[in-house]
Amino acid sequence: MFFAEIILPLNLPRTFTYSVTAEERNLLQRGMRVAVPFGKNKIYTGLVTELHDREPSLYEARPIGQILDEKPIVTEIQLAHWLWIASYYMCSPGDVFRGAMPSALLLESETMISLKPDANCDPEQLSDQELLVYSALLQQSSLRVSEVMPLLNRKNVFPIIRKMMENNIISIREEVQDMYTPKLVKYIRLHRDYDAASDLQALLEVLKSAKKQKEALLGYFQLNAEKKPIAVKRLTETSGVTAAVIKGLVEKGIFEEYHIREDRVDFGDDRGDDRLLLSKAQQSTLDNIVSALEKKDVCLLHGVTASGKTEMYFRLIEKYIKEGQQVLYLLPEIALTTQLVGRLQKHFGNRVSVFHSKYSNNERVETWNRVLDNAEKAQIVIGARSALFLPFRQLGLVIIDEEHEQTFKQQDPAPRYHARDAAIVLASYHQAKVLLGSATPSLETYYNATSGKYGLAEITERFGNVLMPEIELVDIKDKYFRKRMTGHFSDTLIGHIEAALSVNEQVILFQNRRGYSPVVECLTCGHVPQCPQCDVSLTYHKFKGQLRCHYCGHHIAMPVNCHQCGSPDLTTKGFGTEQIEQELALLFPNAKTARMDQDTTRGKYSFEKLIDSFKNREIDILVGTQMLAKGLDFDNVSLVGIMNADNMLYYPDFRAFERSFQMMVQVSGRSGRSHKQGKVVIQTFNPMHNTIQQVTRNDYEGMFKEQLYERHIYKYPPYFRLIRLTLKHRDFEKLREGASWLYEVLRQNLDIPVLGPEEPSVSRIRNEYIRTIMVKMPQEKALGQTKKRIRKVLNSFETIAPYRAIKVIVNVDF
Ligand code: ADP
Ligand code: ZN
Ligand code: ZN
Repeated sequence: MFFAEIILPLNLPRTFTYSVTAEERNLLQRGMRVAVPFGKNKIYTGLVTELHDREPSLYEARPIGQILDEKPIVTEIQLAHWLWIASYYMCSPGDVFRGAMPSALLLESETMISLKPDANCDPEQLSDQELLVYSALLQQSSLRVSEVMPLLNRKNVFPIIRKMMENNIISIREEVQDMYTPKLVKYIRLHRDYDAASDLQALLEVLKSAKKQKEALLGYFQLNAEKKPIAVKRLTETSGVTAAVIKGLVEKGIFEEYHIREDRVDFGDDRGDDRLLLSKAQQSTLDNIVSALEKKDVCLLHGVTASGKTEMYFRLIEKYIKEGQQVLYLLPEIALTTQLVGRLQKHFGNRVSVFHSKYSNNERVETWNRVLDNAEKAQIVIGARSALFLPFRQLGLVIIDEEHEQTFKQQDPAPRYHARDAAIVLASYHQAKVLLGSATPSLETYYNATSGKYGLAEITERFGNVLMPEIELVDIKDKYFRKRMTGHFSDTLIGHIEAALSVNEQVILFQNRRGYSPVVECLTCGHVPQCPQCDVSLTYHKFKGQLRCHYCGHHIAMPVNCHQCGSPDLTTKGFGTEQIEQELALLFPNAKTARMDQDTTRGKYSFEKLIDSFKNREIDILVGTQMLAKGLDFDNVSLVGIMNADNMLYYPDFRAFERSFQMMVQVSGRSGRSHKQGKVVIQTFNPMHNTIQQVTRNDYEGMFKEQLYERHIYKYPPYFRLIRLTLKHRDFEKLREGASWLYEVLRQNLDIPVLGPEEPSVSRIRNEYIRTIMVKMPQEKALGQTKKRIRKVLNSFETIAPYRAIKVIVNVDF
């Protein structure tokens, strides 16, 4: 008798044993997928982790269905890494398996398939079986895989479905199909034959009788003094000639047109050659990184904003791919990958592949296979956190840009892993090196770098010796007192915006809250509309005329009268991006403004489109939430305004000061990235607050030391590791009892601090009440042991009948 140990893509605590025939035993290897029956009549794609001859004692092993692969598509290292993730982050191997594989590789009986709307398929070319599926889908817009089985009168339908997916005939679930192509902007420059100023006279002579063309040419020379690319649009605006006139000049061979992808605006005089020379500071920093990586596996690049970290990453990547190694480049945000891919491709040609969850299934499977085959096309993989699950063969280098970003931590669903930390572990399995980059490293990372666990390379000057922005604090308590506020704008901020706009420079305004205002209040009775399902007030969204819950999406029309007392005197408290945008329209009616927050970037690629328009200077003032802070490079922003620094600071989270510092420094870093020094205005009620003072002085060290001290005293990372248990139930009393039980038993079983059960600041979401328990593990404690004990307690918790319905979510290193 032969058996296979199989991980199912489900939240089950263990693997399952299936029986295999002798023939199957010969074909099967670890890391291959099989279709297996599970439960009454479900079929799943499972992963073989072990082949053995031990018959299970508790249940009768069922035979596997079909073998889906000819060779392993999950490597030994992946298997080990995934099991590490499951045990470290206290989730099931099945959770990791499901989170790691593109869903096209995880077909199951419940998967829905449908015809692709743009499928241009020739029925003649289809096999009989494919034709049956195709015709059925013409009748009925979608089918479950389980419905395909009786249709074809066979169980083994996964391969047929896979093939039809590969041929772009069908797709599964809601997939994002098309990719974003950055806007191409048309620019012009003087033809190579004319070498700038010296030929001006001769050219003007030639154009003597063409008055309009002459004007265009003069306009061109004026703009050219700025030494920036000249968009056709801009030239028409400044010189007052039409696009046709410029076209005429192109036809005469005086101008030439070119396009720049908006993710790569560079400077007029370099033509084609994009290999930038590193500055002295960059070169010596790069040398430091290289030598640090000779001694340590991980190195932190702590480089101020606009120091040109990307360029240094590129050089390091070059070194590793020359040696035939694979490189993984992780970014905190999918939208940022679009910005970078173009640059990478320009540099490394077609050795670059992109991988993230918004890509279509086919593209993801393709990249999966390329990485598995160690193909040249996938030597460099860029992606958001899920890219670390790819089947690397020869990983040599991992780069994690903006390593401090909290988006690297997956919150929901399991596996709740931290991509930075999981990538460091992955790299160690491959004996690969890791470079973490940030202008504002996380406390944990900087602690590791200064305590000698990681190497450290620092660069404190911006590229081109551009000065760090000058930061001005505005005490808004004083401004209100002296009546110097217009809406939420101080006279100081207004003055600086005017100054920037008058010289055609762009402005970014940061407000870490969306909507119009987070609270609506009745002036007569004090009633504040609340979400009926959650324990929060409803946020007013003025454009939509709605009150919305930011936790569950519940919304109602903005009431005219108070629901409680009927009074029409309703007022708003606090403000969000919408309100700022509206105030801007009154203050600067001639400026073009736009807003960037979750509400305006929900549509497909709307984030990229906004960034493109801003880079193209179609927007003068951009108002946004923290989305603005993430590593974007704008070359014409000379002013950044932080509307209110205080609400970030007082957020109930032990990382609030660290995060506020990072946020403010990062947003400030968007200002003055090229040419001249930028300006930052921070409006606050607490100008003397330590964190704000540290931002003003760009004093990362100061922030680090202060926060580290607090973390030590109050037992937080990096000194203690945290595990948070979140309990949820619709019955308040039952939850309270269950939470107390769990807390007590954990406290009795663990000899380390257990805190709680606490009511979080939002203690009910979607009608489920919430309680949290926190476990603090000292660094020196054996982690695995503690986690095992917690798991044991959780297992007994689940066996207690009245508590069984209480959901428990475990979040390690949250
Ligand atoms: P960071 O990631 O450190 O904030 P970036 O990598 O975005 O900085 O670089 C800031 C700006 O400086 C970018 O516009 C980039 O093109 C430019 N830059 C960086 N290094 C060089 C270089 N060696 N030569 C020319 N331009 C550079
Ligand atoms: Zn009222
Ligand atoms: Zn709600």
